[in-house]
Amino acid sequence: MTTDDADESEPHVPVVCSACDTTSRVPLSELATTVERHNDHLHDGDEVAEVDPEIADQLADLVATDLGLLEE
Ligand SMILES: [Zn+2]
Repeated sequence: MTTDDADESEPHVPVVCSACDTTSRVPLSELATTVERHNDHLHDGDEVAEVDPEIADQLADLVATDLGLLEE
């Protein structure tokens, strides 16, 4: 099986939480769930934790390219 290889090849995204003063890297496929769960459990649903702003722009470009949103 190649489960481990698949995990390692998946892009990880740094998520920062200014309130908790933490940074964690999560797999792209779990990004939305992880951020939502963190904010839900620790911050009453406030959107405190977020993708590291330094790469959020790059990520948006990547995702937009992936979805073909830039090809209009
Ligand atoms: Zn937090």
